[in-house]
Amino acid sequence: MRFVKIHIKMFGIICYSYSSCHNLCSTLEVSEEVRQYLKTPTFDNWQWEDAEIMVLLQVMYTDLDFIPTFNIEPEVLQQFLFEIYRRYNNIPFHNFKHCFCVTQMMYGLIWLTDLRSKMDSIDLLIMLTSAVCHDLDHTGYNNAYQVHKTELALRYNDISPLENHHCAVAFEILERVLNKFKSILPVFDFTNKDHRDLMTILIKVSDISNEARPMEVAEPWLDCLLQEFFNQSDVEKLEGLPVTPFMDRDKVTKPSSQTGFIRFVLLPLFIELANLFPCLEVLKSKVWRKCTVCTSLKASLQNLMKTFTGRCPKHLK
Ligand SMILES: [Zn+2]
Repeated sequence: MRFVKIHIKMFGIICYSYSSCHNLCSTLEVSEEVRQYLKTPTFDNWQWEDAEIMVLLQVMYTDLDFIPTFNIEPEVLQQFLFEIYRRYNNIPFHNFKHCFCVTQMMYGLIWLTDLRSKMDSIDLLIMLTSAVCHDLDHTGYNNAYQVHKTELALRYNDISPLENHHCAVAFEILERVLNKFKSILPVFDFTNKDHRDLMTILIKVSDISNEARPMEVAEPWLDCLLQEFFNQSDVEKLEGLPVTPFMDRDKVTKPSSQTGFIRFVLLPLFIELANLFPCLEVLKSKVWRKCTVCTSLKASLQNLMKTFTGRCPKHLK
């Protein structure tokens, strides 16, 4: 694996200064071992640099046969991906590596669920490219901050009943999609376009599925996410805006940040998906185990706090 990686690395650097390599895609020299590894949800993004990641993204388009099917010029794809790379900001979480991770999970799910035999290539192209683009130019601040800072802060004079509003809306939308998926599941039919369209749920799943990855991959991502959250809440405090509670460094712990999210969002999604694709049972079990670990860690923390302070802080309840 080591030799292979070095080989790709050299190639990736050429890709990085992309203007000079015209036949990159047609001569992608990525080993079969790496190509297969790239198709798995256990893929470890932390081993690869951005230049290498650019090459791996091209491998995805190549190995899904998008290049001949849609007559894509390799240089065009390469320039498109380079432009994408440029438009992701250098922020802790929503950066180019996150874009790659989401795309790679989408790619892995396409192979794992054998989606190629069930859906048209154009749908898969749309899903993969949506994953590539999904957080373009993310500033590292969520909508709550943007809106608070502008309209709402002015309109409501910073009174904060709306602080959880955006979060609540996001959960509501997710719940609606999940419920629709659940209701159609017993009669799910890949020949029905409306049913096939529901597969876009896989983009969302890919976006939030770090916890379905191996611990050594998922843990650093959680650190990055909390760092980005804390950056926002620090600025909110400085600017006197309502602080988004789940982003507050004084209130959030790693297990407390994950327990609710895994139990109420991620696990239900994987449970339903595994009903449709039994091959996803492995990922579901991984998420289930993570949920158990986080819950018991949170309980231990609560006990510890009670022991030392005689009470349990509200955010740990
Ligand atoms: Zn994202």
